[in-house]
Amino acid sequence: MPLLLTCLSLCWLACANLALAFELRAQPIAADTWMVEADTGYFTPENGGFLVNTAFIATEEGVVVIGSGPSRRFGEQYRQLIEQTTGKRILEVIITHKHPDHFLGNQAFSDVPIRADAATTAMIRAEGEGLAENLYRLVGDGMRGTEALAPTAPLPLGMRSIGGHRLEFLSVPGHTQSDIAILDHSTGVLFAIDQVFNQRTPTLPNANLANWHNALNTLQALPFKLLVPGHGPVSRDAKPIEATRDYLTWLDTTLQSAAERGLAPTEVMQLPIPARFAQWGEAQAEWRRSIGFRYSQYERAALPWLTPAR
Ligand SMILES: [Zn+2]
Repeated sequence: MPLLLTCLSLCWLACANLALAFELRAQPIAADTWMVEADTGYFTPENGGFLVNTAFIATEEGVVVIGSGPSRRFGEQYRQLIEQTTGKRILEVIITHKHPDHFLGNQAFSDVPIRADAATTAMIRAEGEGLAENLYRLVGDGMRGTEALAPTAPLPLGMRSIGGHRLEFLSVPGHTQSDIAILDHSTGVLFAIDQVFNQRTPTLPNANLANWHNALNTLQALPFKLLVPGHGPVSRDAKPIEATRDYLTWLDTTLQSAAERGLAPTEVMQLPIPARFAQWGEAQAEWRRSIGFRYSQYERAALPWLTPAR
């Protein structure tokens, strides 16, 4: 019986470890450039929070890593994949914005510069712990050992030549208060990250829609050949930019019209999602979340004398 128990315990441990192993595949998308495409669902214990695309560029000086993922465990496995794929050392990590699925893998890269702009670094310092706690609640055990390590180095805007790649760092806020996109002029790859969602419903907890529209215009005017969105597959054209713009416009006008008609949030949640968006990942769930995040602002604007601030 003790032997049986030992076997069962070993099996349980092995199964638990297997459950926490991510299926990471480095997808070559351009010269020296790979992307790891994520699931497009929502945070669950099963997916370990692996919902965000990450990418890396193997320059002659070392590897530039874009995004560190949702957890320490992810970051460690991701780093192994990068080193096996490129055979090169990690040069630096770029954190594009403050959302936790993009930076909570930082601990696995603590020996190299982790760059972000000043605003994002300040927000991660102030909010990182709370953002990590929220992922612990949603993902559970897969987050074990994860702490919110803030970026450690500045991220200057503009052009930098790194190991034979001409990388342009652009400020494109809108999805959050501060967002960075990266255009590799050497390969034509635009890392738009969460400014552009492809076949996955955008998330809006920190969005400024006017700024986001400006950002989409900026991105669409860039001379890119391949676009890497934050969520969903890569694209060779601007269709995901146009679709993201279309969704933000629909959401804005629908919430405004609903507020003017005096609909309650639960009634807004019942409104139909147009067919062109309804097939996107998490369409219903993100619509409900966006109403929770944003609808009270529309109510206050439409009926300021009736609606107390919530
Ligand atoms: Zn985001």
